[in-house]
Amino acid sequence: MKTLFRGGTIVTCNDRNAVVRGDVLVDGQRIVAVGKAPRDVRGTRVVDATGCAIVPGLVQAHVHLCQVLFRGMADDLPLLEWLAKRIWPLEAAHDEASLAASAELGLLEMMLAGTTTILDMGTVHAYDAVFDACDRAGIRVFGGKTMMDAGGNVPKRLREKTSESLAEAERLDARWSRHPSGRLHYAYAPRFILSCTEALFRGTVERAKASKARLHTHVAEHPDERIAVKRNLGDDDVAILRRWGFKGKRTLLAHGVQLTDAEADVLAKDGTRIVHCPSANLKLGSGIARVQDLLDRGVQMAIGADGAPCNNNLDPWLELRHAALLAKIRTGTTSLPAPRAFRLATIDGARALGVDAELGSIEIGKRADVVVVRIDGPHVEPGGDVFSRLVYAVTARDVEHVMIDGVLVVRSGEHTRLDRESVLAEARLQAKKLTARAKL
Ligand SMILES: [Zn+2]
Repeated sequence: MKTLFRGGTIVTCNDRNAVVRGDVLVDGQRIVAVGKAPRDVRGTRVVDATGCAIVPGLVQAHVHLCQVLFRGMADDLPLLEWLAKRIWPLEAAHDEASLAASAELGLLEMMLAGTTTILDMGTVHAYDAVFDACDRAGIRVFGGKTMMDAGGNVPKRLREKTSESLAEAERLDARWSRHPSGRLHYAYAPRFILSCTEALFRGTVERAKASKARLHTHVAEHPDERIAVKRNLGDDDVAILRRWGFKGKRTLLAHGVQLTDAEADVLAKDGTRIVHCPSANLKLGSGIARVQDLLDRGVQMAIGADGAPCNNNLDPWLELRHAALLAKIRTGTTSLPAPRAFRLATIDGARALGVDAELGSIEIGKRADVVVVRIDGPHVEPGGDVFSRLVYAVTARDVEHVMIDGVLVVRSGEHTRLDRESVLAEARLQAKKLTARAKL
């Protein structure tokens, strides 16, 4: 089947960051024409893009689908307290039904906003339910169970034996990474250095190397976490992880708020990725990452909303806006201009995940992950250039159509696979049951 997106402003995010006016033609799962499309549209589905930008599907390289049900249940706390008092007890209370409801609500929210690829960190148990939900929803996912085999305050149900944790992750990798859709990929995700042993980290490195999976964890997020790591292990987390082999092009580290220049240089040299989560960094009082400095030093970066209870939205447009605005406070008003910022959510995200040859830009031959977003609303007009509109003024509600792998998963603002009302009803019901089980 062919689809023609007709008459929009095409933000290609190619090497020249070119913007062209015209049409995008998709044949099956691939983009086959950009700018000028054939006049004969018989047998082609035509999607009107007048007044819209046609942009690459947005990549959120750090989210927690398992935490979406906890939205609003963990406000106004610093990171370590937020984890111990709220998030871990709530995660420990999850069952398969609540996890599926949490994932579906998050996927509905993110896909309606134009997110087409995510890197998800799960909870300890039942991660099959998350892959299942992603498969149903039609999103592209890199994800894995979170792993914890150490640390104080970790509830018993979430603390695993090292060997059991690794065996379960390996089972999930083998089961889902060969899924026929080609959209599901495994990521080994030890939670963070304070809740994992060296053996666990080294075990994930070994397994990810064998299966070519991604590695994913949190680093250098909050000053208190940094102090605790140094007290326990005598060094900063980035240096320790590096010693354990947790580094390189397939490794994505979330946050990096506290990184020093020397650490940034080492990350750049290794090719280790940093995922910027500006809203979560603000809400947990972690600080403002030096994004422009990290980019200047050659660190590969992506962006992500993190979890619903530390944000409280999973909105890629808000993250873009916050990233661009906060960069001005951190390193000066000329930092992270809109045309540069927008790449963080598109081609940079794809590169961080190692899929930029297939995704992240609107170019002939690439997979058809395409978003059509209105740029002519009263909160956007008369506006400036398209990047200014997209980064500073557009909201999630401006997204009209979302295509993933040639399938229109959102059409005229409605999800074509998930039913909004039943997802919401199930989320409310499961949240109630889960909080009762958590006894908070
Ligand atoms: Zn996180």
